[in-house]
Amino acid sequence: PFEKSKGQHILRNPALVDSIIAKAGLKPTDTVLEIGPGTGNLTKRLLEAGVKAVVAVELDPRMVLELSRRFQGHPLSSRLKVIQGDVLKCDLPYFDICVANIPYQISSPLTFKLLSHRPMFRCAVIMFQREFAMRLVAQPGDTLYCRLSVNVQLLSRVSHLLKVGRNNFRPPPKVDSSVVRIEPRKPLPPVSFKEWDGLVRICFNRKNKTLGSLFKQKRVLELLEKNYKTMQSLQLAQESEMGEEKMSPDDVAVLANMVEDLSMETSDEREDDEMEMDDANAADGRASFKEKIMGILQQGDFAEKRSSKLSQVDFLYLLSLFNKAGIHFS
Ligand code: SAM
Repeated sequence: PFEKSKGQHILRNPALVDSIIAKAGLKPTDTVLEIGPGTGNLTKRLLEAGVKAVVAVELDPRMVLELSRRFQGHPLSSRLKVIQGDVLKCDLPYFDICVANIPYQISSPLTFKLLSHRPMFRCAVIMFQREFAMRLVAQPGDTLYCRLSVNVQLLSRVSHLLKVGRNNFRPPPKVDSSVVRIEPRKPLPPVSFKEWDGLVRICFNRKNKTLGSLFKQKRVLELLEKNYKTMQSLQLAQESEMGEEKMSPDDVAVLANMVEDLSMETSDEREDDEMEMDDANAADGRASFKEKIMGILQQGDFAEKRSSKLSQVDFLYLLSLFNKAGIHFS
């Protein structure tokens, strides 16, 4: 009866459901968003925890039917609203907290959809595939530290709550899982997300290469020079220095569109197809632009550093150095 394509793995360990509920820190005034309620094991516990309402979004009509049967005539059913649809496509309702055992194939787009939702929720307690969870919480120097870690941690605090073995599910998935807490930062850091992501993309293109060599790439220099010239001709460089641009919901929505390439593989495994710029053949103008970029990296002592070791604060500082010099990433 369960469909692999929909990631249907039902939680069958009641003690585990209870610890998820306990970790969620629910309040009687909370409206809870549940994603993929399935047969309703978690839903039932959420309702029993005495929250104001549970809104559950479920894709599979058969599961929706099963849920309505399960809660029919139940004293708490008036607090449950089931929406049938794809959580990635529907408008999310208001919620204070999200608690969910999700289908793993939507992990990345769902995370960014939640983080771009307004008003901002208090916290999300979500079951992810173990490796994805470890990427979310990874710190500089950890093997799994990547663009996903940096971007999610810019917008939220993430913490690992529980390790969950595959045998807690029926049918058991092929991988182990982890429950993670995501708490959106309030307020968000005063940075344009497009700028931030533009920088982070370049830096994590090869996370173990030095920034010095990454920023020498022809493609990167061409892009930055084009942005620089556009900015200059618009005389906007002064006005859009870091600190003046606030992150808007629109900005964060950029995230929702970029999630496709936040793949699980590390980009370091790919063949290096970028050519470094050949100094001898470079046009004079571009050579001096390259020196400008190298100068900025050296100013912050970044030229020999690698993204795999850089913290949020390092990236924010690097972005501010670039922006001050009129260099933009979007
Ligand atoms: N919450 C239940 C539990 O813990 O036993 C079931 C979890 S199961 C891992 C994932 C559920 O999400 C399935 O019921 C599946 O039908 C549903 N689902 C899959 N893709 C979805 C989507 N895009 N939007 C909403 N629900 C989805």
